[in-house]
Amino acid sequence: MDIAAIRSQFPILNRRLYGRQMVYLDNTATSQTPQRVVDAIVGGYTRTKANVHRGVHTLSQEATELQESARQRVKEYINAEAAEEIIFTRGTTEALNLVASSFGGMILGRDDELILTVMEHHANIVPWQLLQAQRGFKIKVVPIDSAGNLDIEAYKRLFTPHTRLVSVCHASNVLGTVNPVGEMIAYAHSAGVPVVVDGAQAAPHLPIDIRALDADFYTFSAHKMYGPTGVGVLYGKRRHLEQMPPYQGGGEMIDSVSFEGTTFASLPYKFEAGTPDFIGIAALSKAIDFIEETGLEQIAAHEEELLSHTTSRMLAEIPGIRIFGSAPGKCAIISFLLAGAHHYDTGMLLDKLGIEVRTGHHCAQPLMNALGVEGVVRASFAAYNTLQEADLFVDALARVAKILG
Ligand code: PLP
Repeated sequence: MDIAAIRSQFPILNRRLYGRQMVYLDNTATSQTPQRVVDAIVGGYTRTKANVHRGVHTLSQEATELQESARQRVKEYINAEAAEEIIFTRGTTEALNLVASSFGGMILGRDDELILTVMEHHANIVPWQLLQAQRGFKIKVVPIDSAGNLDIEAYKRLFTPHTRLVSVCHASNVLGTVNPVGEMIAYAHSAGVPVVVDGAQAAPHLPIDIRALDADFYTFSAHKMYGPTGVGVLYGKRRHLEQMPPYQGGGEMIDSVSFEGTTFASLPYKFEAGTPDFIGIAALSKAIDFIEETGLEQIAAHEEELLSHTTSRMLAEIPGIRIFGSAPGKCAIISFLLAGAHHYDTGMLLDKLGIEVRTGHHCAQPLMNALGVEGVVRASFAAYNTLQEADLFVDALARVAKILG
């Protein structure tokens, strides 16, 4: 991979912090955006801004065409059967809330059971708890082993005749673990149970073939895959989406409205009430262009090299460091704690050395409890990171370890 050519597409990477080269290693929270995505957003505001689906005029038709060709692009990216199965949302969080409220609300009642895993992001826990407060179903949780692998035998043992739904992340935002979602889906389907997959951390790093996976629902966020903020995707199987009630009511999601009763629009518009972020949606297709031109396999191989180089150096050179998550094939995410140091102090000192990492519970407090920690420091890589940056990070971390030790 020509890293220099890739980096030249990301103007923000030229920033300096405190007189040093900035090293951006918070890609799990959000990745940076190539110029072509920025250009698409600027073009959306300076050339084609008009509300979608409401106008006969040229500008509205152009904006609509940009949005709908982005839907087609997403459909192809994840190999969905039809563009109607692609619902645009504000992000993974809204997509999961939509599924919980609309699909969960339809199928989960008292005496029923939902299976989650201990490594879920709060976005895949709290929407279910909100529904649970109304419906009173039971939530069961799949545990992990010491390396951060899901305990698949325990997962299978959690199924009972009351199991109605499984919701699991494809990849953990803390441990980097890539879960065997294909196997989990096949097992659930053999028991007649549908599966929701939170793909927020998988979509930027792994090829997703929805039809091969056979997921019932799959969610992801544009801003974590080199795209704009405020845009996400919910994929749903057509037969589920057709049965589900709308999540929000408003313009664009109706067929006809009267005070006697309202009928709803066909897919995907039934789930897209109000004016969507049509400029961001159009820009998402440019982020997919970037990923496909660079090559997902090449990106994955490059990130794997960064991960193994950095992990080996950290373990060899920083006494007492604890790294959380060592599952085979994990994503390029390194969560860690320095011996005797608070995660905030480590993160703050790294920042003063130009290294941008995240600290805290990473919206995964149940996982923090399972790991027996309050929070961790997390460094995570993307396509544009270099081995030189990985070395700057480990050198800086060694300095911080000395200061805090
Ligand atoms: N799920 C996972 C695994 C995540 O890592 C995140 C964000 O970090 C989310 C869900 C929520 O994504 P968003 O904030 O884009 O809605």
